[in-house]
Amino acid sequence: MGASAPQRRAELVERFRELKDCRRCALAATRTNVVFGAGNADADLMFVGEAPGFHEDRQGRPFVGAAGKLLDKLLAEVGLDRERDTFIANVLKCRPPNNRDPLPEEIEACKPFLLEQVRLIEPRVICTLGRFATTCISGRPEGITKLRGRPMAVEVAGLPVTVYPIYHPAAGLRSGAMLTRLREDFQRLPELLAAARPTAVSGPAAGPSEAGTESAPAAPEPAQLGLFG
Ligand code: SF4
Repeated sequence: MGASAPQRRAELVERFRELKDCRRCALAATRTNVVFGAGNADADLMFVGEAPGFHEDRQGRPFVGAAGKLLDKLLAEVGLDRERDTFIANVLKCRPPNNRDPLPEEIEACKPFLLEQVRLIEPRVICTLGRFATTCISGRPEGITKLRGRPMAVEVAGLPVTVYPIYHPAAGLRSGAMLTRLREDFQRLPELLAAARPTAVSGPAAGPSEAGTESAPAAPEPAQLGLFG
């Protein structure tokens, strides 16, 4: 910590430009666009999902499908706005073919970019959506069913943060019971955001970035840049 919000935002935009043509893993061959992430570059709350899906890959923006709409709705129910109050990114910045699970080597290749985003945005709360994001950020081996709804203090990219695992919104689209749990878990977000940054942490689960700088397909750069509040 130490850089001003405008400095950190400028650096984030720079990372976005560098990542546009990343070829660090095999997903570069099948993606349409790198989906860097979007939202307020100085948000206290970061959401971390798994990977872009079909629509995200086409549009180059995170959570634009039905799951994204549910996320917006659940945020609104607790008085939060996606663009004003959050930054949303995924563990993988490129879509796995047919939305298959991320492979360990893909997570390993892409994780430094996520950690760099955490370092620059400096969130106090990271809400992990589903199993892959929770394991990636917290380092905890337990499944999402066990960890869901339980905030934990973790060092992420050298920063003490409250990591709050919840189900992925896509689960809430498939089951009414899951939607009820998701809604319950969203209700706690304002309380977590009102709390101070944790001091004692269980980490480090993740070190600071060694994110590389590989670059550039023709992507919707202005559209994504416009989403960095
Ligand atoms: S490392 Fe990440 S950004 Fe780079 S090609 Fe793989 S998934 Fe895409």
